[in-house]
Amino acid sequence: MTEIYAADHVLPVGAPPLRQGAVAVQDGLIVAVGTRAEVLEAHAGARVEELGFAVLLPALINAHTHLEYATYGGFGDGLPFSDWLADHVARRPRLAPGDVEAAAALGAMLCLQSGVGTIADASYAGAAVAAASEAGLRAIVHLEAFGGPDADAESVVEALRQRLAAVAGSTTPLVQLGVSPHSPYSVAPAVFAALDAFARSQGMTVMTHVAESLAELEAVADGTGPIADALRTLTRIEATGQHPIELLAERGLLRPGSILVHAVHVDANQIGLIASSGAGVVHCPRSNALLGCGTAPLVELRAAGVPVGIGTDSPASAIDFDLWAELRAAIVTARAREGRPDALLAAETVELATLGGARVLGIDDRVGTLSVGKRADLTAVDLTDTSYASTEDAAVSAVFAGSPERTLLTIIDGVVRYRKGADTERLAACWAAALPGRTRMIGTDD
Ligand SMILES: [Zn+2]
Repeated sequence: MTEIYAADHVLPVGAPPLRQGAVAVQDGLIVAVGTRAEVLEAHAGARVEELGFAVLLPALINAHTHLEYATYGGFGDGLPFSDWLADHVARRPRLAPGDVEAAAALGAMLCLQSGVGTIADASYAGAAVAAASEAGLRAIVHLEAFGGPDADAESVVEALRQRLAAVAGSTTPLVQLGVSPHSPYSVAPAVFAALDAFARSQGMTVMTHVAESLAELEAVADGTGPIADALRTLTRIEATGQHPIELLAERGLLRPGSILVHAVHVDANQIGLIASSGAGVVHCPRSNALLGCGTAPLVELRAAGVPVGIGTDSPASAIDFDLWAELRAAIVTARAREGRPDALLAAETVELATLGGARVLGIDDRVGTLSVGKRADLTAVDLTDTSYASTEDAAVSAVFAGSPERTLLTIIDGVVRYRKGADTERLAACWAAALPGRTRMIGTDD
């Protein structure tokens, strides 16, 4: 059965925008992209869904999430990065069995509602695996690992291997597993190297939070400062005398398949190291701004040829999983940082959230553009009753008007996984199941 999705505007990404466009889908694959007239003529008899005054584009890729933190909104807001981190660590034991699973299920639904078809998650508890699978998301879920200089690297790897085996049965064909050494400050170099070697042996990607804050730079270089103080009860941090990017590069831990989240505090040399390694970067502008960490040099990273995607991180630091809001933040911060309005254009931002993310994750052969032969991952943004109606530039309209409320549908591998209106009750049920855990983390019953 062939299905055609037609809209007044189509943004294929990697090809010019189409007015009165359409995409034909068969067996989970894109089989045609063109004008509505062309596609309808070539696929007579297909079921046609008219999306009307909307922008149809590849389903977005949220290249850094923590689904399990869907209900952490506002915790520790305004605290310095190290104290914010300590606040999260302190609240975690208050959760009851089932809370993490309910939060992850909510997070997965909120991603779908934001037009997201693919996520790359960093998962502390492993609950994101079942959540992504049950939601029908395309995902790489990286299980987080920690280990200071006193940890036995092989034991850390063995524990991770067992955790991966425990969740492997919960995956669908769209969900892959990966490894996340949390950060160079919470994972000592020898442990990081062992985790990376294990990931390589399994063909897995490796996601790490790196060069996020100045406190991290001090912790990694000198073993001192606010992060070292905040984590003192959990781990010792050893002075390496190095910037975290140089530390990883020198040990051969930057490579294609390395997913570097944040990269806020990197200079030209460090950007060069990333670019020559084949590693990718995930830009999380709201998380970086709200935690007072800074603004990543997005323009320089892109100019150096580094694959760059965009991620919301989680409500723990970045308000919500609304990737459209993240795209607007990327534009605002890039233009403010560079002092020029063309520092990041809307079309370039759409590319970050589609093809760019796909490149970072190594899945650009399958998704990231609306191209014949790629998997059918699509979303559509309703433009009616917005300031961006009657558009001259569909990318500008989609990015500036896009929101979860305006997402008409999210299609993954040819299957409609979210539809506005039809999924209202499912969303409400996810909220109802997840919010008691939040109440427990706050520590009150009201
Ligand atoms: Zn994160």
